[in-house]
Amino acid sequence: MNMLVHDNAFSTPAIGMADAGDGAVYQTLLESTQAIPWKIDWATMQFTYIGPQIEQLLGWAQDSWITVQDWATRIHEEDRERVVNFCVSQSQAGIDHEADYRALTAAGDHVWIRDVVHVVRNADGSVDSLVGFMFDISERKRSEEKVQQLQKELEALSFTDSLTSIANRRLFDARLSEAWDRMRRDGDALSLIVLDVDFFKQYNDFYGHTVGDACLVAIADALQKQARRPQDLAARLGGEEFALLLPQTTMEGAEHIAQMCLQAIADLAIPHEKSAISAIVSASLGVGTLTQVSNGSSQNFLSAVDQLLYAAKHKGRNRYEAACLDREEAI
Ligand code: GH3
Ligand code: MG
Ligand code: MG
Repeated sequence: MNMLVHDNAFSTPAIGMADAGDGAVYQTLLESTQAIPWKIDWATMQFTYIGPQIEQLLGWAQDSWITVQDWATRIHEEDRERVVNFCVSQSQAGIDHEADYRALTAAGDHVWIRDVVHVVRNADGSVDSLVGFMFDISERKRSEEKVQQLQKELEALSFTDSLTSIANRRLFDARLSEAWDRMRRDGDALSLIVLDVDFFKQYNDFYGHTVGDACLVAIADALQKQARRPQDLAARLGGEEFALLLPQTTMEGAEHIAQMCLQAIADLAIPHEKSAISAIVSASLGVGTLTQVSNGSSQNFLSAVDQLLYAAKHKGRNRYEAACLDREEAI
């Protein structure tokens, strides 16, 4: 029997059938469970009991748990205020409760604890004491954190094109829709570039699919470098088609970036023996800008920029075709 048990807190079992001799049995049971039992007297705010297992779990000696202050100071500072305020208010209201927090260890580390608290009342309804169990939930917290991390990674993967590692169509659509809403709300200009590699079927047929893939990766990298501002987004829409979303960008700014894209692809100097227009890989671009609030949809905007891309193809490829789309009926 330890010295800390000031008032034989757990000697009277809650279940009515026990007789006085059962006290030792309950004591043994309580001190051999994984959960750590404790009792705090409400009037003095002092521990009248804490299980000896606490020393093994946290390293603080059993007799060092004197007041609720000892408990509070051994809570991780990022959890302390939240947990103390919550537990105090619940206890004052006489509500059983539980709290998860990081308990500090004597060695300077922490252990995740779930403290389950029962409020014991006097016959007149006032609070007599708090009785609780501390459970070590570190393992559960570790697996929860691992699951969260995996979820984050999965989410990132679901927005990434697996070949080129830039944004995929899914992320592009989401960001286009956001940029569209912002354009309508704030009235900022919104520009979009759609890019398609010239004679890529011939490239694939001649050099093979693997070399074709490597070419797409190089082009994606080059385009990614043109998305300089945090709100810009370079994405692969599918096949050999890419897009650059340029929020808050005028037509003049977008044309400048389109020119940079053409130059960046030329600088790659990837040989293309089967291109009808150049000795190296080139691309054609559609560049569209909206400066006015429109009633149409972001996907109509994308289709209109696609039309500009095909105009660039018809005009000979390895070029861009730009237009302000404010007057387009369909958008
Ligand atoms: P244009 O100049 O008019 O754009 O002609 P094109 O040959 O580029 O156009 P088309 O759409 O006919 O061909 C696109 C080709 O791109 C078809 C396919 O061989 C190739 N392609 C599409 N996706 C991939 C891919 O993921 N990897 C590789 N290696 N090739 C792809
Ligand atoms: Mg294409
Ligand atoms: Mg093409």
